[in-house]
Amino acid sequence: MPLHLACARSSLDVIKILVGTDDDTYVDHEMDGALFQTACFRKDDERSGVLTYLLETTEAIGRQSSDRWGSNIHTACLVADLNTVKSLLKRGADINSEDKTGQRPIHNALFRTRDFVKLLREEGRERGIELFLEDRMHRNAFHFAVGNGRLDLVKYIIEERPELATQGDCDGWTPLFWALRECLHWDTESSERSAIIKELKARGADVTIPDRGKVLDRVWTPYYVATYYGLPANIIELLDPPSQLVYETKKASLCDDSSFCDICLIGIVGLYYICIECSSFLVCFKCYGSRDIVHLEHRLAVTNEGEEYVSNEEESVDNDTDDADEALLSSSSEEGIGMGDDTWEADSSGDDRESVVSGGIEKVAL
Ligand SMILES: [Zn+2]
Ligand SMILES: [Zn+2]
Repeated sequence: MPLHLACARSSLDVIKILVGTDDDTYVDHEMDGALFQTACFRKDDERSGVLTYLLETTEAIGRQSSDRWGSNIHTACLVADLNTVKSLLKRGADINSEDKTGQRPIHNALFRTRDFVKLLREEGRERGIELFLEDRMHRNAFHFAVGNGRLDLVKYIIEERPELATQGDCDGWTPLFWALRECLHWDTESSERSAIIKELKARGADVTIPDRGKVLDRVWTPYYVATYYGLPANIIELLDPPSQLVYETKKASLCDDSSFCDICLIGIVGLYYICIECSSFLVCFKCYGSRDIVHLEHRLAVTNEGEEYVSNEEESVDNDTDDADEALLSSSSEEGIGMGDDTWEADSSGDDRESVVSGGIEKVAL
């Protein structure tokens, strides 16, 4: 463990002293990842030197992996530079390895730039790399690419496989839904989101998509996702916002700048779930329903973590937030480890109105 701590924050000189004397070089520390992965996440000036040193001195570095991050090359594709990825491949890294969610290194490269994706395809040509394999949540390369926020990468994918523009994941969420989620990490961008949405629509993406996209037992459309994330008006207006219905629009609050979902790797907003045992394993509102699909071993606490609030900006609005919570909570009871029924039990007292949770909103039948 001292070496792991050193790789996270100590100088290269200290690390050099510990390498070879500390026997945890190859150990997977559940929440930190393998040694090399710990160093990858450094943000200081020492990072490059530490990574180079580990690459040159740690014989098994190409084959190391952890439960949390997958293989070292998964992590390098997510946060390191192109040369580090090349170095790992030279040291025997498995370019087709899978992490706990069925994601391969090229999925992580899709969070970065077109150069990362092209490098992996070129380097992996002889090893049978496949860009278009789905992960366990049935997300394909296009679901990842649109969240990246770079139009050139989106076009790179869609020109090869245009039919992916309308393909849903395990919840029926098409790439348009994923283009509206704020990632906030891994050098992703958002300045080209409007152009990406227009490109998706030109390729046949449906902004209404009725009766699909159920998450948290709510029916979502792209409009509701955009509203949940508080996206600006120039994005909302591309999504055919409803004008006549009586809605209370749910918006999510940002958890904090540093948190992300340990399944989809996207920033945490709104409701989220925490592992009972290790507490730093978080799962977002979108991925919670997929925990069985990814065979998650973490026991997730169902607590009312994260915040949603009812927007007063919409034209309609019944502002009784207790009713909104009732609809939300009544849709959320579920058997499972660590379910906190006391936390999530609906308060159904004293109101005859029927309410239906619909996407980021509650639709109230008056
Ligand atoms: Zn997630
Ligand atoms: Zn855990």
